[in-house]
Amino acid sequence: MDLTHVETYRGAHDREGLRLRPGERLLAGGTWLFSEPQPQVTGLVDLTAMHWEPWEPLPGGGLRLAATCTVQQARAAPWPSPTLAERCADALLMSFKVQSAATVGGNLCLGLPAGAMIALTAALDGEVVVWTPDGAERRAPVADFVLDAGVVDLRPGEVLRSVELPGPALRQASALRRAALTTHGRSAALVIGRRSADAVVLTVTASVPRPVVLALPPTETAAAVRDAVAAACGATGWFADPHGAADWRAAQTVGLAAEVHAELVEGAA
Ligand SMILES: Cc1cc2nc3c(=O)[nH]c(=O)nc-3n(C[C@H](O)[C@H](O)[C@H](O)COP(=O)(O)OP(=O)(O)OC[C@H]3O[C@@H](n4cnc5c(N)ncnc54)[C@H](O)[C@@H]3O)c2cc1C
Repeated sequence: MDLTHVETYRGAHDREGLRLRPGERLLAGGTWLFSEPQPQVTGLVDLTAMHWEPWEPLPGGGLRLAATCTVQQARAAPWPSPTLAERCADALLMSFKVQSAATVGGNLCLGLPAGAMIALTAALDGEVVVWTPDGAERRAPVADFVLDAGVVDLRPGEVLRSVELPGPALRQASALRRAALTTHGRSAALVIGRRSADAVVLTVTASVPRPVVLALPPTETAAAVRDAVAAACGATGWFADPHGAADWRAAQTVGLAAEVHAELVEGAA
């Protein structure tokens, strides 16, 4: 839709250019910004003019995804095993047109429970790199960056620069289960598991307002996995919206978590 209150548009070419003037808002892919009225926004500052590399290898086999990396570019990054990234990209309720514009950073900064780039990067032990207005940067686990549904840990003047994924997590076996009310509906429960050396690390999103990450012993029974996930997510609170009621999401989540745990334990046997 047209943003009828917008009077100015400029590209950001360096850190100084990222300083927002009153009424300005950062623009990444624009898929959310242009999807609803923004009466308080009078200027747009285009982050894509920074021309960050979409992804870069890190020492130790890790991967850095720029905030401006599109979902489509993230799919094509050099993952040791691309399946998880592809399935997370598919979990977003998007057409290919949206995937080619929507960015990883925009997905994280919106902080929606169904943010599949949040799910992917939290599950892979990702760390956000945030540029602070004093010219420095700070880092935080993705799972801590999202505070609540639509609320992230970005202070005034801060910009999400990238997400860094460590090499070991990228090479570990993973499994994903997803539930939605309809085949192509928005994710209502998304559980990703990763098999570390001594645990199965489960990351729950979509059914909770912020990512819930828990490490469980591989020896845990299905019933114990269900109980642990129910307790951890229950403590955070179950999310509900037109894409699924809280009790249904809870029932789906614990079942999916038990399946993911079993798949990763059986796969390692
Ligand atoms: C058809 C359709 C389906 C969608 N389905 C889903 C879905 O299933 N799940 C989901 O989570 N979302 C969904 N969305 C919402 C949204 O499109 C995505 O979350 C997308 O990834 C947002 O990225 P973007 O680059 O377009 O962000 P933009 O719209 O450009 O920006 C979003 C917000 O983040 C801020 N921002 C962006 N980048 C940065 C940065 N680097 N640092 C600081 N602030 C920044 C912007 O100022 C803005 O407030 C959907 C949208 C559409 C149109």
